[in-house]
Amino acid sequence: MSLIVQKYGGTSVGSVERIESVAQRVMGWREQGHQVVVVVSAMSGETNRLMALAQDIQEQPVPRELDVLLSTGEQVTIALLSMALEKRGCAARSYTGHQVHIRTDSVHNKARIVDIDDKRIHKDLAQGRVVVVAGFQGMDETGNITTLGRGGSDTSAVALAAALKADECQIYTDVDGVYTTDPRVVPEARRLDHVTYEEMLEMASLGAKVLQIRSVEFASKYGVPLRVLSSFEDTGEDAGCTVAGTLISAEDAEMEQALISGIAFNRDEAKVTMLGVPDQPGVAHKILGPIADNNIEVDMIIQNIAEDATTDFTFTVHRNDYDKSLAIMQETAKKLGAREVTGDTKIVKVSIVGVGMRSHAGIASTMFETLATEGVNIRMISTSEIKISVVVDEKYLELSVRALHEAFGLDQSA
Ligand code: ADP
Ligand code: ASP
Ligand code: MG
Repeated sequence: MSLIVQKYGGTSVGSVERIESVAQRVMGWREQGHQVVVVVSAMSGETNRLMALAQDIQEQPVPRELDVLLSTGEQVTIALLSMALEKRGCAARSYTGHQVHIRTDSVHNKARIVDIDDKRIHKDLAQGRVVVVAGFQGMDETGNITTLGRGGSDTSAVALAAALKADECQIYTDVDGVYTTDPRVVPEARRLDHVTYEEMLEMASLGAKVLQIRSVEFASKYGVPLRVLSSFEDTGEDAGCTVAGTLISAEDAEMEQALISGIAFNRDEAKVTMLGVPDQPGVAHKILGPIADNNIEVDMIIQNIAEDATTDFTFTVHRNDYDKSLAIMQETAKKLGAREVTGDTKIVKVSIVGVGMRSHAGIASTMFETLATEGVNIRMISTSEIKISVVVDEKYLELSVRALHEAFGLDQSA
């Protein structure tokens, strides 16, 4: 017997029929003798709907109240799933985040889990119940409801798996694993049997939204074996207990090492440039200081070599922070005596990721040559030990991803 934490995302619980199908799958695992804790998201589209309601009242909703509102989506699905289980004769109990003491810090809308009290859950499990927990939510020290940021149910599931010392955390979604790139963009994408925590962390950070970044951080920190699987596949004779999907775990010497394991992209970035900045010590700080003071995260940064004692300075931010960043830069430009501030929201970041890159030269040159052959202009470049990212015009996103996918031999037929 093992203890398994399963998480079902929005599309997996998007209708009553889907919830009934999840109940069937959970029952299958129970019947095989496993203990099961289920974490669910809100029904697909629900968090967006709630967000829109809030924004009809306030463009920037009060963070505390937004969390009270957004957390309701998951309360609906825990109850419905528990009913579907009970209807099938399977004892189940639903709990909101605060009922099982998912304690977080007080950073509303992107809170971090600090502690989980596993006693209540273990007690229910010992009594033969399936425990159904609302994902994406917790409570801070003073009892305020918090949420964990978009896609946060993944993190709830992994944190629960770590706290309960579960044997595996299974993330059920609408694809049957982690692919070499988003299969919606490249139909030739291939499912990966195994990905290391490190690679998955890079892929998630670089835009692959199949898992929330923090869930991978947690899994890596606590060594939770994580598996991504489809909730849409037929449950079959063993009621869906034949698991394949993609296993995410620590690097293993026996693992076959591909040079590049995946291509990620991010459509959420925008770039801001300050032209003709007097090139003096401290300029980077003077430009980026006010951005940081406004809690805006900066991703890529480029400063050109100075000519005529002036330089150009470019950085990227989340598109949601673009207008604010541009306004701040215009202020800063006046103070510094810079010539002009420009910006562009029609950019994307495309990245290749792979631990195999560490021991191989020439990967960057293959990447740049492939993009050049397709006539794609590279606007920014950044590298780390296991990834290379480029910023290109938005209109080249699909072309770039497809071309790189083929060039690095990732296509299914390769
Ligand atoms: P859920 O609602 O179950 O949490 P998400 O929409 O958050 O599901 O994540 C699943 C989606 O992630 C897939 O439908 C797919 O389009 C997208 N995705 C992006 N990159 C990848 C990738 N490398 N492998 C698999 N899916 C990916
Ligand atoms: N319902 C939340 C969202 O849509 C959390 C999640 O689905 O993981 O972001
Ligand atoms: Mg998700």
